[in-house]
Amino acid sequence: MNTCMTITCATCEQDTDCRIGYSNRLIQPIQFACPHCNSTVEITLDISEAPHSNFTFTGCDSSKNQPAGPFDGTNPFVDLHLDFPVKFGAYTLGMTPWFAAINQLQDGNGGDREMAMRQSMFHSSRLNILNQLYPRSDELKKVINLYHGSNKQLFQKRAAEFLEKEQEKSLLQQDLNATLYCVIAKAFFPFVVHEHGKEISEELPKLLFGLDQTQLGLFIADLFKSGFLTDLQRDCLRIYPRVFDVEIPFRPALFLDFIEEQESELIAGRVSSQDFFGLKDIYKDVLEIIARQIVLVAGINNLYHRGNFNSFKAIDGGTLSSLQKLSEKTLSDKFKYLDECWYNLSVSDLNLGLRNAIAHNNIDYNNKTQIVTYYPEGGRLNMMEGKNVSFLAFMRSLLLAFREMHNLHHVIKSLYYFKLLVYDRHTAQGEV
Ligand SMILES: [Zn+2]
Repeated sequence: MNTCMTITCATCEQDTDCRIGYSNRLIQPIQFACPHCNSTVEITLDISEAPHSNFTFTGCDSSKNQPAGPFDGTNPFVDLHLDFPVKFGAYTLGMTPWFAAINQLQDGNGGDREMAMRQSMFHSSRLNILNQLYPRSDELKKVINLYHGSNKQLFQKRAAEFLEKEQEKSLLQQDLNATLYCVIAKAFFPFVVHEHGKEISEELPKLLFGLDQTQLGLFIADLFKSGFLTDLQRDCLRIYPRVFDVEIPFRPALFLDFIEEQESELIAGRVSSQDFFGLKDIYKDVLEIIARQIVLVAGINNLYHRGNFNSFKAIDGGTLSSLQKLSEKTLSDKFKYLDECWYNLSVSDLNLGLRNAIAHNNIDYNNKTQIVTYYPEGGRLNMMEGKNVSFLAFMRSLLLAFREMHNLHHVIKSLYYFKLLVYDRHTAQGEV
């Protein structure tokens, strides 16, 4: 369903024609920059009383000059839809954001319309789950906070409510963890690729059991004695609710799961939301966590290849003396020390230049074009240094980085279980 309307910008009092495609989200806050003056205008569509559509306006209002027929091109035109990348420009009758999206899927599949429809339905089904979950994001935050609190019984109680399951009575750490990871699996199902996490959860324990158990025990003891693993788990858990806070601009980025990356035309598509500055720090923080998670990957890799978590392969004639030394390296340097790695890290998906630019605040955003310009090398004296990505491409990068963090969280989960179920029991029996 779509609504066509003309709005008047409150700042410049000029008109813009809008076609608003309906998402199934009950409240749809749609934002864009006024094509005349760049001011942010917001139209909120509330479908909670469907079939009636309630519109409210911020920074704009419904124009007194509504078109009697199709838009005639007098005013600038914007297509808007929370769930799909959209285009600004010329109005084409009938070519709604939904139809345009289906056509793009079809083109990407060599003309296979049926496949395009199946992909579109999968996209909708994930978003429908998200539509049910987003009103519960405060509840999710509380459950995650309770995991760290002293009242573990209350954690189990609230988690059971969130999961809509019977309460797990056990307060053993392994059972608390099992509950926690069920909550995360349910809440973040629409964002992640389930098969990736499943593969790690199944394969990593086998790999751990195949290692020298005494050496693995030393690794586990080191990780927990220093607090490294528990701190890392806590910091991962702080990211998850932030993703829910900004689920809206993730929606068109999820659509790109079905499109080849190099289709730059689509990556240049618009997001019907504007808040880039509220999102950029999440990217930086997710990459910081990945940098620390790589230390775990390296420790296991060293155990696997050389039987000692501190033993690195010599690189360029030199070697690192310990895992501690690796943890002090920058993210890009860390990759070098993962020789023939058991974990397939998607390095090319991580934009380290963008991360550096955010960390040093060398970043600009043009809300009219939705182009992010970042300066990986720092200074702005030479404007040639700047690189551009669209807001949509940025959201895609953020989504892929979040997925990598989530996949690597399975390593934390597995090491934690290994400590609780194997290492602690052996230690108690005096075997290590
Ligand atoms: Zn304006």
